[in-house]
Amino acid sequence: MFNKNRLRIAMQNKGRLSQDSIQLLIQCGIKINLKKQQLISFSENMPIDVMRVRDDDIPGLVMDKVVDLGIVGENVLQEEKLKRQSRLEKCFYTILQHLDFGICRLSLSIPYRHKYIGIQSFKNSCIATSYPFLLRKYFNDQGINFKFFILNGSVEVAPGVGLSNAICDLISTGATLEENRLQEVEVIHSSRACLISQFGGYVNNEKIILINKLITRIKGVIKARG
Ligand code: ATP
Ligand code: ZN
Repeated sequence: MFNKNRLRIAMQNKGRLSQDSIQLLIQCGIKINLKKQQLISFSENMPIDVMRVRDDDIPGLVMDKVVDLGIVGENVLQEEKLKRQSRLEKCFYTILQHLDFGICRLSLSIPYRHKYIGIQSFKNSCIATSYPFLLRKYFNDQGINFKFFILNGSVEVAPGVGLSNAICDLISTGATLEENRLQEVEVIHSSRACLISQFGGYVNNEKIILINKLITRIKGVIKARG
């Protein structure tokens, strides 16, 4: 059972952020016995519980006050924010600390063989993405009409098989782009993992003290890692 007096932290279960997130907590001195397939794990030495879920669920769990803190990429956070704003749903959160992992960018990429002549090249083009809200905001701000469809996975293969003219996807090294003969032409969002919390005041003073202690330790860990 989840105990509301203990600090609840949501982090990614399986994926690019999961090991770094666990490592961060361990380096902060939090002893936790994480078991595979287990949604919630309990710290033995601090009043902290860890909930491991898909990264897409983390911003919502924080905004809906199911958990106190979350570790998630800014890309996922911003996408959820724009989605909620478009539906006039509540969307309160604070970024407590930017972290030193999960560094990537959400970029527009087109096939090598196409010459890029600037953002106008995307006019009326069809773009595959897992980030429709960030993509739409980017082009709306620029006043450019475009079409898109959502692919949650294998986005990079879409142009090669004739499904789209371009992609809007996360990039870190660029190796996947190269494999698919794509060139990155515009960065629409730079991202890294961050620690987020619910918006505004905590009723429980002990939790505020614990959160502040955790932030201090996280800062120390990041500094020590250089
Ligand atoms: P989940 O099953 O939890 O939904 P996912 O497949 O959506 O996982 P991952 O590929 O594990 O997500 O990526 C998690 C996060 O890692 C991304 O949202 C992003 O913040 C960060 N990240 C860093 N580099 C990359 C990259 N090259 N490609 C994708 N994500 C990256
Ligand atoms: Zn995801």
